[in-house]
Amino acid sequence: KAVVHWFKNDLRLHDNRALHTAFTIARDHQIPLICLYIVSPEDFEAHLTSPARVNFILRTLERLQRDLAEVDIPLYSETQEKRNRIPSRVVELCQKWGAKHLCGNVEYEVDELRRDAKLVRLCAENEIDFAPTPDTCVVTPGALSSQQGKQYAVYTPWFRSWLAFLKENPDYLELSEEPGSNLGDARKTFADLFDCSIPTAPRSKQLPGDEKVRFEKLYPAGEHEATQRLEKFLEEKATKYDEMRSDLSGEYTSILSPYFACGALSARTAVVTAKRLNKNWLDRGNQGYVSWISEVAWRDFYKHVLVHWPFICMNKCFKPEHTNIEWEYDADQFQAWCDGKTGFPIVDAAMRQIRHCAWMHNRTRMVVSSFLSKDLLIDWRRGERYFMEHLIDGDFASNHGGWGFGSSTGVDPQPYFRIFNPLRQSERFDPDGEYIRRWVPELRDIQGKAIHDPYSTKEAAAIAEKQGYPRPIVDHADSRARALERYKRALHG
Ligand code: FAD
Repeated sequence: KAVVHWFKNDLRLHDNRALHTAFTIARDHQIPLICLYIVSPEDFEAHLTSPARVNFILRTLERLQRDLAEVDIPLYSETQEKRNRIPSRVVELCQKWGAKHLCGNVEYEVDELRRDAKLVRLCAENEIDFAPTPDTCVVTPGALSSQQGKQYAVYTPWFRSWLAFLKENPDYLELSEEPGSNLGDARKTFADLFDCSIPTAPRSKQLPGDEKVRFEKLYPAGEHEATQRLEKFLEEKATKYDEMRSDLSGEYTSILSPYFACGALSARTAVVTAKRLNKNWLDRGNQGYVSWISEVAWRDFYKHVLVHWPFICMNKCFKPEHTNIEWEYDADQFQAWCDGKTGFPIVDAAMRQIRHCAWMHNRTRMVVSSFLSKDLLIDWRRGERYFMEHLIDGDFASNHGGWGFGSSTGVDPQPYFRIFNPLRQSERFDPDGEYIRRWVPELRDIQGKAIHDPYSTKEAAAIAEKQGYPRPIVDHADSRARALERYKRALHG
């Protein structure tokens, strides 16, 4: 007899609701707890999971397995080539281990909901108790609605409602404890499970050796690392977050997104820790903490949007009118964008940052998404895909939301205000050109403001030309006018 916790995007012991429930059942029934993780290459393919993210997940699992073993809990992990076999395989394993209870947290993407609906049915048929637990959001999707009973599609009123909800329901901010020691005979009864090793990445998702080493250094895996990063960021940087977060020259944000995406850190823990340091306020006190909490809430917001409008998972625009936008299909321009060779230094710096770090600053995510969809008029879904294929923090809801924002095809679109001017963004958020110099070595020797627009002065142009840096592939003023016209035509005929 045993109870099983099935890990997915919740790779942590601390503040993991379903894991906590599983441990409580184990303790109450005096039975061992077994943990399970299934590597699904088809899901990695279908969801365009980047090799950096696959590598990060597998490294996180190794840490998790060691941490669990310290409390005598085995983490069994295997690869399932066919993803539609996963529900029946989970049931098979439960039967093999004699488990009548299965625990797991909810994932809200459509494929995962379908998979879990099938699992719920199979469990019921096989007398296994299974109720997926809401855990990933601070406020559970479905809990907030406007006075007219509708889901919010605009962040600001949604956030007000999120804050009010948490004030009225402080239990949503209670953190659940880590599991304690597994029951005595777990090591004997399930000895072979303790010897199980974590699978390797599927061939199409493997990182080259040098990148493996680089990413291990950039993003050490596991929840201990995540917690340390959280605490260090909150103590050393968060109070200045409001002023500094868009400054591209240094590291002023937390870079916790890879850890949130695989669940090594819960959003609840992040919010609770920031709140505690902010004298227990969520929405007043130090402006740095307040705005960081509101950024973490964006993650909740986009998951709520996904739950209420699940068709966005199917490659569809949030509003049907946006389907009418007439896109350009210029393969060379798309390639120039991917390669960081558009001749717009801020765009190119960001696109090289994502290639090198599998991560990009939020400000430049907005700049490059606007540039692709407005300046180049290339369908934003190509950019959305490209991001998923490269980001270590790739998360469907946040990525889709971010692309909807940048391309003005998502919730709350404001195309007239959101055609970012790459030059102004560069001058404003990278005033000394440090970000550009770091990522675009061809421009390193350019002095002063010309770094933002190298072909604007003779001296800078000579350097750029000599280094083979391209001229701008479009004229921003012209492409801005073209984008406005196309959007207007799509929306108003
Ligand atoms: P911090 O500034 O320290 O913020 C803390 C946390 O809050 C982040 O780790 C993240 O979990 C959350 N957060 C912050 N801003 C946002 C936001 N705008 N939307 C949702 N959550 C937010 N974030 C992802 O996690 N995965 C993605 O795939 C992703 N794709 C994006 C695509 C585009 C086009 C845009 C504009 C944004 C995207 N974001 C995505 C949101 C945001 O850029 C990143 O979360 C952020 O840059 C991560 O850096 P950080 O951890 O230092 O953030």
